[in-house]
Amino acid sequence: MDLRSLRAFIFDLDGCVYTGNTLVPGVRAFLQELRDKGRRILFLTNNSREAGEELQAKLARLGIRATREEVLSAVEIVGPLIRDRFGPSPILVIGGETLRRLLAEAGHSLVPLEAYREARVVVLGHDFDFDYPKLTAAARAVASGAAFLAVNVDPRLPVEDGEFYPGCGTLAEAVAAAAGVKPEVVGKPMPHIFRVALHRLGGVPADEAAMVGDSLASDVRGAQALGLKTIWLAPPGAVAGEVQPDLTIHHFAELHGRL
Ligand SMILES: [Mg+2]
Repeated sequence: MDLRSLRAFIFDLDGCVYTGNTLVPGVRAFLQELRDKGRRILFLTNNSREAGEELQAKLARLGIRATREEVLSAVEIVGPLIRDRFGPSPILVIGGETLRRLLAEAGHSLVPLEAYREARVVVLGHDFDFDYPKLTAAARAVASGAAFLAVNVDPRLPVEDGEFYPGCGTLAEAVAAAAGVKPEVVGKPMPHIFRVALHRLGGVPADEAAMVGDSLASDVRGAQALGLKTIWLAPPGAVAGEVQPDLTIHHFAELHGRL
């Protein structure tokens, strides 16, 4: 694939720019090369706990500068999406403080756990305090007709040393199993978030943008569906299956000098 025809590069964060609190080797140099060559950059994450400004600060701590507009987190688009679809709604939220705050700021009312029957929508994000009462309330609300949105369905959150935490998708599976209803996904691989990303990049045509990520299921599959080019940073030992990226790399140094 000829990288010289690409005007914009969209980077996944977890497992692509950083793993936990450690930068992925070579990514800072490649980002600098993109800046030097005048390419547009956007960081696009399925994060369900941290908004763009928090991630912008994390990137800065790791030595990567980005403007606020250049960081797009799935958690930011949930509230507006629900407002467009259903209007201001009573929502049962399973997730962290940022998700709750952003939903309230988008004009929705948050339903307490015990009042799950009043929820018109159930939103599920990653929740380190996920427990049986939350599972029960969410599953009952969905089973009785509330819309079910998961910020993402990524099964794992990668951290250092090849370790992981169970991700938002794992919690969504539990609710889905009990409720008998699959969630609608807000983040990657669904097209909406990629459209928001391309819009943030000034409306660059999809085929002049590349998605760079470590997940075939979220990053590569989702980006290909909209016609973006894809660069897969293959995790150690991983092989592409039915999803075929345009370019597979194992280290960012492989992209050096190709712009
Ligand atoms: Mg990732």
